Amino acid sequence: MKRVLALLIAPLLSLAALPAQATEWPNGARAAVVLTYDDAATSQLDHAVPALDAAGFKGTFFLSAPKPADIERWRAVAAEGHELGNHTIFHPCSAASFPAPARYTSEAYTVDEMLKEIEQMNVTLTALDGRPTHGMATPCGQSVAGGVDYLEALRAAGLVTYVRGVNVTPADLRADVGTMDPMHVPARGFPVGVTGPQLIDFAEGAQAGGGMAVFLFHGVGGDHLQVSLGAHQALIDWLKAHPDVWVTTLQGALDWAKDHPSTH
Ligand SMILES: [Zn+2]
Repeated sequence: MKRVLALLIAPLLSLAALPAQATEWPNGARAAVVLTYDDAATSQLDHAVPALDAAGFKGTFFLSAPKPADIERWRAVAAEGHELGNHTIFHPCSAASFPAPARYTSEAYTVDEMLKEIEQMNVTLTALDGRPTHGMATPCGQSVAGGVDYLEALRAAGLVTYVRGVNVTPADLRADVGTMDPMHVPARGFPVGVTGPQLIDFAEGAQAGGGMAVFLFHGVGGDHLQVSLGAHQALIDWLKAHPDVWVTTLQGALDWAKDHPSTH
């Protein structure tokens, strides 16, 4: 009788340990981790892609103005199953964000012009990966053109499947990812000099709370705002050692969460 009771109670206890509404990830994974890389930095091709490939992971690369010399490499990255996403062509941010020619600041754009640029970048991405639709990451995490927020116009135009921002608050880290507004997908960036344990800490938070942790990287072992090779590899190694965390692309995680609504 004791044994029967234990069998009955055990599932109840494990259910109680989960948040009330939580996405059920594949193969019983406790959380999803998504590794995203912005700006088409060549160091991502040199260092991030080989590290992901060695671990059997797929990443998400938001391309903006990819270098002509890198085009065939990006095509190969897409062919092996990594995700390519839209990061606009000219990466327009507010003039206050960083120095850029005036015509490439977001102040110089209208909403229509910004959407046209996003549409045109989709054409480039489709030429590279053959896919009809793409997700997007906003440049500098800003969705403003000529002082107007363009997210709702972008949603109405149906040009992208989701929009990844840059800031994440504890409230954003919801366990039920299927209910997340795809036009407001939070991600976390890290300062230059971030350590492996600091990166792992973010993944552990997702592992503990369910839901999804979206990492945002720029240069990897080179280029701008770089994460060191050692810190990046430490995160990869931790993820490899924790199969209860599902490492996937951002589109892959969002699609899974949408197709598998939370049931408890
Ligand atoms: Zn960027």
